Amino acid sequence: MALSGLDIYKHLPKTNCKKCGLPTCLAFAMKVATGQAALDACTEISEKGKAALSEASAPPQQLVKIGAGEKAVEIGQETSLFRHEDRFYRPTAIAVRVSDQMGKADLEARCRSAVAARFERMGKKLAIDLIAVQNDSGSPEKFAEAARAAGAASGLPLVLLSAKAECLRAAGKDQAAARPLLWAAAGSAKSGAIDAAKELKLPLCLEGAGFDPVAELSEAARSAGLKDLVLSPGTAGPAAGLEFLAQSRRAAILKKFRPMGYPVAMLALGDDPLQAAVEACWYVLKYAGVVVTDLYRPEHLLSVLTARQDIFTDPQKPVQVEPGVHTVGEPGADSPVLITTNFALSYYSVEPEVESSRVPAYILSVNTEGTSVLTAWAADKFNAKTITGALKASGLEAKVKHRKLVLPGLVAVLSGGVKDESGWDVLVGPKEASGISSFLKNQWRP
Ligand code: SF4
Repeated sequence: MALSGLDIYKHLPKTNCKKCGLPTCLAFAMKVATGQAALDACTEISEKGKAALSEASAPPQQLVKIGAGEKAVEIGQETSLFRHEDRFYRPTAIAVRVSDQMGKADLEARCRSAVAARFERMGKKLAIDLIAVQNDSGSPEKFAEAARAAGAASGLPLVLLSAKAECLRAAGKDQAAARPLLWAAAGSAKSGAIDAAKELKLPLCLEGAGFDPVAELSEAARSAGLKDLVLSPGTAGPAAGLEFLAQSRRAAILKKFRPMGYPVAMLALGDDPLQAAVEACWYVLKYAGVVVTDLYRPEHLLSVLTARQDIFTDPQKPVQVEPGVHTVGEPGADSPVLITTNFALSYYSVEPEVESSRVPAYILSVNTEGTSVLTAWAADKFNAKTITGALKASGLEAKVKHRKLVLPGLVAVLSGGVKDESGWDVLVGPKEASGISSFLKNQWRP
C-alpha cells in the first residue's frame, strides 16, 4: 500500500540537515512518496525508522510461493476485500488430498484421476494445482515415501500435512527442492514445525482453533523469522470457516493487522462429495488461498474449478475472444455461417455445440466489446449495422457460395434489418446454444 508523504515524514529525523540534497525532511518525504527519491538518500534515518517504513510499505497480505518450476503456484498478496473494488489476482490453489495409509497403487491412481480432471472453459484450461499428502500413519518414513509417490504420479507441487514435526521435517527435507507447503495440523507441536520450516526454508501453514489462536501462532512464527506463512482454522466447519476467512481478510486488508496478513488455507473434506464440493466453492468465493479437498473425480471438481474461474476474472474486463471468423472442422463453400458476439462465454457456448453436430461451420463473432448477445443487443452494439459490418470485413462472401446467416434465436427481432442491410437471408437459430447441434443436423441446408 502506498505511503503518503506525511506517513514517511513521521519516521524521518526532522532535523532538516539537507544531507539528502533537499532543504527539509518534509520535502524529502514528499519526493520519496512520489517515487522521485529513495529512502536510502537520507543518511540520518534510524534503523527503527527504516524498519517501520519497510514494514508499513509491505503489501497487506504476503505473497507465498508453493512448488518450484513451471508448476509452482503463487497465492496471497490480495489487496481488495470486495472483487468489484478492483479484482482478485491469485486464484485459489486447489489441492486434492491423499493419505500415506493408502497403498502405493491406490495413491498413484488417486493422483492420476485428480490430474486428469482437466476442462476448457471460456478458452481457458481448468485443472487442480496441488496434491496434499496427509500423514495418517504417524511414521516419518511412510510419510516421506507417500510424498515421493504423490509427487512422481502427479507432477504437481505438494502440501504435506502432519501433526508431528518430525514427520514434517522428514518429508519436507526429502522434497525440499520441490518447495512443498508444510502444514502443521491440529495437535502438532507448532514450535517444532516452525523450526523445521525455518531450517528447510519452506512455507508453513499454521492451523489453530479460531482467529486469536492463529494470530498468536503467526506472531510466534514471524518472531522466529518466518515470512512465508499460510493460516488455517483447520476443520472448523463451514460457518466458523467462513467467519475466519472474512475476519482474517478484514484484519489484513482494512486494519493491516500483520499477524493475519497471510493467505488462508481451508479444508473441504468429508464422505459426501456434493457437500464437500459446495464447501470448497464457498471457500473459493470467500478468499481462500488454498482449498484441500478429498474430491478427485472430474464431475466433482468441475464446480469448484468453475467457481474459481468466475471469481478470479476481472469484473471490469469481460472475457473476450478475437472478433472475426472462427472455423469448426474444415468448412467449405456450403458450410453454415453462425453469428454470435465476442463475449467468451457466448462464443464458447456456441463452439462446442457446433463441434458436437459434426457439421463443419464458420462462426462469426461480432465485436460487441465482450458483451453477451442480449446485453449487446440492448446496448445497440449487436444490430443490423454491426453484424453486416462484421460480415463484410470477414471475407465470408468469398468463402461460401450460399447467402444465409444463422442468427441467435434471442435476437430474432433483428432478422428483417440484417436481411435488408446485408442482402443475406437470415435463418433464426435456437434461443439456447444447446439447440445448435440439432439445428445444424436437422434444419441447416445450404
Ligand atoms: S538527510 Fe534526512 S534528516 Fe537530513 S534533511 Fe534529508 S531527510 Fe531530513
